[in-house]
Amino acid sequence: MLANIKYWETVGQKNGFAIPHFNVWNAEMLMGVIDAAEETKAPIIISFGTGFIQNTIFEEFAPMMVSMAKNASVPVITHWDHGRSMDIVKNAYNYGMNSVMRDASALPFEENIKEIQSVVDYFHPLGIPVEAELGHVGNETIYEEALAQYQYTDPNQAKEFVDRTGCDSLAVAIGNVHGVYSAKPKIAFDVLEKVRNVVDVPLVLHGASCIPDDDVKKAVTLGVAKVNIHTELGLAAMDAIRENVDKPFLEVEQYVRKAVKQRAIEKILLLGDDGKASYWKK
Ligand SMILES: [Zn+2]
Repeated sequence: MLANIKYWETVGQKNGFAIPHFNVWNAEMLMGVIDAAEETKAPIIISFGTGFIQNTIFEEFAPMMVSMAKNASVPVITHWDHGRSMDIVKNAYNYGMNSVMRDASALPFEENIKEIQSVVDYFHPLGIPVEAELGHVGNETIYEEALAQYQYTDPNQAKEFVDRTGCDSLAVAIGNVHGVYSAKPKIAFDVLEKVRNVVDVPLVLHGASCIPDDDVKKAVTLGVAKVNIHTELGLAAMDAIRENVDKPFLEVEQYVRKAVKQRAIEKILLLGDDGKASYWKK
């Protein structure tokens, strides 16, 4: 069933679990994560973003996302990840995404606020929650270099940012980056705690693939209610391809779907999200 992200992030935050956000951009990934959610009775977020349009035509794929979300036996949110402009998130909404992230985190503080205010003004009357980002989670690069010039979320700015923008959830930059980490991630739990203490909205952890399980769990206990996973689904898919490379393509893709499902189940269990579909309207 189609579900509301704000409801689930809030329920997760109150009850000490987080909702996994899975980036999906082909049929096997989409079916794999829905398989995982149904088997574990877990609410999940399925998500698309600009980074995937070289592979998949969003406007053609979106109807499959929406249909599978509606027909799933568990709550599923359809989300647009890292919206790079107002036009992009409007397009996502027009094609059935019921939650959007507008990422203006590369802009200076005041401009980020202004941009998110206009996105919130547009989407709240439509009933669509808006995620924003403060600080800047970098792209995949050499991790040590990324950390050297890392823009952590400033706890002193977080409250003002949330109050003035009216955003529904906040993505934090606490030493997390996108893609594979080239060194052991150093998560700044002190920053996370400080942000948690000054804002009420659910917090979001991007780039959670390959962060050690204990660190992800700790982040959830400190108030992270949405955890973004993409890279690890791809790694699981690649393992399946390598192991079955001599089989017909038709079969290889079945193994890919199973591998994605398995990795998604691991993440659902890690976040304590299993069985939580029963929290619906409780
Ligand atoms: Zn992200």
